[in-house]
Amino acid sequence: MPQEHIQDQVYAASINDPESFWIRQAENLYWHKKPSKAFQKSTKHLKKSNVSHDHWSWFADGEISTTYNCVDRHVANGNGENVAICWDSPVTGQKEQYTYKQLLEEVETLAGVLREEGVKKGDVVLIYMPMIPAALFAMLAIARLGAIHAVVFGGFSPAALAQRIEASRPFAIMTASCGIEGAKKLLEYKSMIEGAVQKSSIKPSKTIVWQRDQLRWDPILKEDGQRNWQRLVKSARNRGLKADAVPINSSDGLYIIYTSGTTGLPKGVVRSAGGHAVGLNFSSKYLFGVHGPGDVMFTASDIGWVVGHSYIVYAPLLAGATTVLFEGKPVGTPDASTFWRVIEEYKVTTMSTAPTALRAVRRDDGDNEFFEDRGKRGALKTLRALFLAGERSEPSIVQMYQKLLSKHCATGAIVVDNWWSSESGSPISGIALSASAGQDFSSSERPKPLPIKPGSAGKAMPGFDVRVVDDQGKEVKRGEMGNIVMAIPLAPTAFTTLWEDEERFYKGYMKRFDGKWIDTGDAGMIDEEGYISIMARADDVINVAAHRFSTGAIEQAITTHSSIAEAAVVGIPDALKGHLPFAFITLATHDHRESAVPDDKLLSDIQRLVREQIGAIASLGGIIQGKAMIPKTRSGKTLRRVLRELLENATHGEFDKEVNVPSTIEDREAVSVAREKVREYFRVKGKDLHKATEARAKL
Ligand code: AMP
Repeated sequence: MPQEHIQDQVYAASINDPESFWIRQAENLYWHKKPSKAFQKSTKHLKKSNVSHDHWSWFADGEISTTYNCVDRHVANGNGENVAICWDSPVTGQKEQYTYKQLLEEVETLAGVLREEGVKKGDVVLIYMPMIPAALFAMLAIARLGAIHAVVFGGFSPAALAQRIEASRPFAIMTASCGIEGAKKLLEYKSMIEGAVQKSSIKPSKTIVWQRDQLRWDPILKEDGQRNWQRLVKSARNRGLKADAVPINSSDGLYIIYTSGTTGLPKGVVRSAGGHAVGLNFSSKYLFGVHGPGDVMFTASDIGWVVGHSYIVYAPLLAGATTVLFEGKPVGTPDASTFWRVIEEYKVTTMSTAPTALRAVRRDDGDNEFFEDRGKRGALKTLRALFLAGERSEPSIVQMYQKLLSKHCATGAIVVDNWWSSESGSPISGIALSASAGQDFSSSERPKPLPIKPGSAGKAMPGFDVRVVDDQGKEVKRGEMGNIVMAIPLAPTAFTTLWEDEERFYKGYMKRFDGKWIDTGDAGMIDEEGYISIMARADDVINVAAHRFSTGAIEQAITTHSSIAEAAVVGIPDALKGHLPFAFITLATHDHRESAVPDDKLLSDIQRLVREQIGAIASLGGIIQGKAMIPKTRSGKTLRRVLRELLENATHGEFDKEVNVPSTIEDREAVSVAREKVREYFRVKGKDLHKATEARAKL
């Protein structure tokens, strides 16, 4: 029998004996108090719903400072001169670099400032910032004080921001005077923040503003707790004010990240400090091949998303490597060659992005001339891997980039589809670039990785026991589709609860399978060799350009329109963004309009509501109007899945294809009405408006 690949051996070791596997990984970090053991299982009792469920924690009696491990440790180890952050901002034409020593100076000073402004261990500080170095200083400075950051994506609307302020009750907000979208479109933050604070019943005591030259925050209202960030730092420097790293308990929160659940209210995923640091440090080397000084990681995402938290900030810094902080877009800043320029300029060794970014590049540079040009010059030879996550990667995009990497990048360079979520904190599946690190973390070997299979997101990562089950929670055969779930415990980077909401944690993730499995919300399959394919969301969440939205939240925004009685939102396949939100609406009028396509005024009114209440990133791909069209169960639940199937079929030209209608449907006629409306909509709009990323297999 051929010997198992190291990745398979490492995985088996992590599942068979998690205790010794993870305690070994913990030794690679600095602990203010070393944990005596890795894994602890317990039972939680929920008073309200009167249930008990399994719970777990990692490194329970350890104390750690994530910032110390990301910054101070490297300086103490003599790596202070290594570059920690390369900031590249094509939207402003600016570039800056910070060594670990400089980063330490920035972070300890800012932490001193925050302490003086009243931030204490355990406080929440909300960050609403563009992709500038100050945002990273803020995250690390907050963590340095043992406080908890809640980064909110700088493109969310004041209403969405207000919701997150209410939920996290921050002591302070750290922000900037503006964000810059694409080619120089300024997003003024003053009115966004002030609008959000006004809407919220929680009023943070301080708002600390990083002034950008492109658009200033004017005036800074001191009486409202607003402060000029640069001035505070300058004064602190003059006085030599600094703050040392404050360790926290391993299971204390390092940060909260809000993500869409199946209802309108976002979920506050809490990241525990110890498990996060250990698991990310491990994944940085093992999966991403980022070992330390000399390795350069470029994650083209945003710090507002979990990918940004983990692989722009924490993982590369834990490893002592260099991270590229990129304030730009895949295209338009200035063109589709930007990513490849960054790889050349900073000698990037690992790049990570979402497939939607590469689809945008492909749209603007269909023949990959930009990539080929640089490749032919040998400018992309440093690149060892291109990681893709956030949504499904269609095989064609993986194959195209695999060809390019094989031709122009480091020997053996691969494209790695990796699957994960805000909840998991690091990839649940993928192909490990440095699998030897799973057996001996000090190993500098880079053995040949497992082969990739385009369309699959690789194999389960250490600590994640992934299974596919039917709706009753029974495991299905290999190769069969089903609900993707995980057994307890999850790997250390993953959440163990939601922010101040144990009940919702149980209801949202454990109740469906009676506490036996953790539900991921995704559907797919695992093949004979253990490769996992993620095919779709199984719940009412949609992935738009690798961002997650609750269909319920978008429906709520739409139905605030006075002439709309009802809305059902589902995802429609989109060739660029994977999926777009698409609304079926019923008007609140007796003589409902006949046409399936709403008039332009209504369309733009609805888009405005979605923009205002959620953000431009949730803009609708289209709207169909109709009476008695939205199918429901007898208990009144909207059957979004039926509408989604009708739309998906339509994007493949299959208007008459049968859809799965559950027996609990109230009125079957609604499906026929919806089918005819979809047909009419596509006839009017033309069949090319909505296209899927991948063709359907002809069966
Ligand atoms: P978020 O929490 O915003 O990172 O979104 C997580 C969700 O994105 C997952 O539950 C999946 O639905 C989807 N997702 C992430 N990575 C992948 C992938 N590689 N393939 C398919 N879907 C993915």
